[in-house]
Amino acid sequence: MQLSKYNITSKIKDSDDWFVVNALSGHADVLDQKTWEQLNSGEENPEFIENGYLVDPAQEKRLFREKYLKFLDDRENDEVQIFFVTNYSCNFDCSYCYQAGYEALPVALSEEVTDSFFDYIQNEFSGRRKYITLFGGEPFLNAPRHKENIGYIIQMAAENNLEIAAVTNGYHLEEYIPILKKGIIREIQVTLDGTSKIHDQRRYLKGGDPTFDRIVQGVDLLLENHIPVNLRMVVDRQNIGNLPDLAQFAIDKGWTASPLFKTQLGRNYELHECQANQQKLYSRLELYQDLYHLLKEFPHISEFHKPAFSVSKFLFEQGEMPAPLFDACTGTKTEWAFDFTGNVYACTATVGKNGESLGTFYPEVRKNTEAVEEWQERDILSIPKCQNCNLSLICGGGCASMAKNYNGSLNSHDCRPVTELLELGIGHYFEE
Ligand code: SF4
Ligand code: SF4
Repeated sequence: MQLSKYNITSKIKDSDDWFVVNALSGHADVLDQKTWEQLNSGEENPEFIENGYLVDPAQEKRLFREKYLKFLDDRENDEVQIFFVTNYSCNFDCSYCYQAGYEALPVALSEEVTDSFFDYIQNEFSGRRKYITLFGGEPFLNAPRHKENIGYIIQMAAENNLEIAAVTNGYHLEEYIPILKKGIIREIQVTLDGTSKIHDQRRYLKGGDPTFDRIVQGVDLLLENHIPVNLRMVVDRQNIGNLPDLAQFAIDKGWTASPLFKTQLGRNYELHECQANQQKLYSRLELYQDLYHLLKEFPHISEFHKPAFSVSKFLFEQGEMPAPLFDACTGTKTEWAFDFTGNVYACTATVGKNGESLGTFYPEVRKNTEAVEEWQERDILSIPKCQNCNLSLICGGGCASMAKNYNGSLNSHDCRPVTELLELGIGHYFEE
């Protein structure tokens, strides 16, 4: 018997206790100092063996293989998220926008492109559950021709019985409500970066005009029309201090009481273009460290948003571990991105980037099979550094696009601070 390769143990933040988490066996425990010492010394306690913290290595290898095959099988049946970029242009000029580096293109969305898109996805993903997410640029622009095109996509999706989601800055929601009501809408993701003053310093129209009030009105309208809202706050050091106020604002509006309302925090980070001011950006861990303290000081934040802290929130809410994650990257597996120029990409991190196209669906269907295979073969078994990492079944190798940006190769690691996030998250969710 020996200690499992997949044990993650550490001290819980602001506590005398320790934790052990094992994503292969699917067990997790809070341990006092003495029990933790017993575990660490490999003492043959029947409970450690039963929970898979102490294992026969050959048996553990078999269990790994079994769960890996199940992971691949389950993924085959997962729903596919299909992003469709209707345009790269935007009516906003956000202070941190990574898409500022995209060039304006001389082509535009048309019914012909939309028809080819639907032909392609119905053929390529036939028999698979799927839904479409409209993405930009800003997909809900107010020009009449553009609105007609978006209306046509939503109508085609409804005819094909496909749900539509959209990622929008929320400025023209009022104009889009009648169009949205014709479709099967899964959710609309809208971004508010804080209460009015902070938001308007970051997310303004081209020309500088404020946007907060119209977006708030748009969120109200969505909820009134029974359309689910996913409110995103993009955070960095400059606006995180406003999270308690935005949370209170959403509570006072009655948004958080609606079952149609959920939230996410988006980390403002460098992926596409160099950010002028790197100091204001957060690493994943720094963001969660600040959230941990903010939640202690302003507990009402959790009415607005409950951070994941790796698998801590899942463990707390479900009372069990999630299935082992052999691959965190959904690109080309359960996620694809298409754009109005007819190109196909792995995901939203690569869409529209030079050299990242994996083929075309318009004007002709063309596939770069070799490049697609490179994406599809990437998981914790193929990434050298992940093969012996005890965090692998929670981290899943991270993001392929980030890995390529940092290490120059897709088939490389994008490490997640799993242990540190668990220290904070178990502290937050379980110690109280
Ligand atoms: S490359 Fe990164 S952003 Fe794209 S699907 Fe994979 S993990 Fe997500
Ligand atoms: S990406 Fe890094 S942390 Fe994640 S599994 Fe691989 S080696 Fe471990």
